[in-house]
Amino acid sequence: MNIQASIRALKAERNAAILAHNYQTMDVQEVGDHVGDSLYLARVASRLEEKVILLAGVRFMAETASVLCPEKTIIIPDLEAGCSLAGMIKSREIRAWKDKHSDGGGVAYVNTTAEVKAESDICCTSANACQVVSSLPENARILFVPDYSLGLYVQRKTGRKLDLWPGFCHVHADITGDVIREQKRLHPEARVLMHPECGCMSDSMDLADEVLSTSGMLKACERSTDKEFIIATENGMVEQLRAAHPDKVFHPVGEWAVCEYMKLHNLEKILSSLKNLEFVVKVPGDIAERARRPIERMLALS
Ligand code: SF4
Repeated sequence: MNIQASIRALKAERNAAILAHNYQTMDVQEVGDHVGDSLYLARVASRLEEKVILLAGVRFMAETASVLCPEKTIIIPDLEAGCSLAGMIKSREIRAWKDKHSDGGGVAYVNTTAEVKAESDICCTSANACQVVSSLPENARILFVPDYSLGLYVQRKTGRKLDLWPGFCHVHADITGDVIREQKRLHPEARVLMHPECGCMSDSMDLADEVLSTSGMLKACERSTDKEFIIATENGMVEQLRAAHPDKVFHPVGEWAVCEYMKLHNLEKILSSLKNLEFVVKVPGDIAERARRPIERMLALS
């Protein structure tokens, strides 16, 4: 039996579901029961029937699943799968801002720890950040954490003034205006699809033809008659798009656009994780209780 078949057999035996993020390698995505972005995976986790959820993604995603499904066992194949962006804001920093602005509200990108979510009023993902901010009262003072580029983009799209936290993802921050201009020079016919975490948001947002979440990129390529794209995000997305659309051409922004945290998972570790039911991610009850509300508030927005 090959390793993918072993994983599928063990998954059934364990009554487990595998949720895989779009940035995973294709062999990992192939064993996923559900593959998508953070918003999609959070929605799926909240309604799964299986008793065990294996998260092939980073730790904050496993925490979100733990918060939404406290009765289930949440496992992650490698505990070192963190997120540089999630590490850039602490719960005490949100509390300090709220102490100064007692009438203000905090919007936490899902790329945050459960402790930070617990101090926030509502969560968002890159797919719904504009919708989330627009849903808040017009005169409310809003702290947006932790991604500065996404916050800038949301500010521009919604016309709302936000207090922006200066956090960044180390992969997307390197996707600067110069990187995109060079890719456009090399591939003048290509359509530019850009993730809003990209560093070039503070240079020029007009370099992108569309600014999209990873799931948004998949849909855009499905509906587009264009044949050539520059994909400004982590390269796992390029792999997935190439597999889905062999008739189209996808250019990464550079071979370097790789999240080493996402890529810590592989088939061997997934098999071992299912065998040993490790590594368990369990958010403590009181934090989970407080973090659930902002996540559910986000999920309630269609
Ligand atoms: S690509 Fe960036 S934001 Fe996404 S998991 Fe990796 S470090 Fe975090």
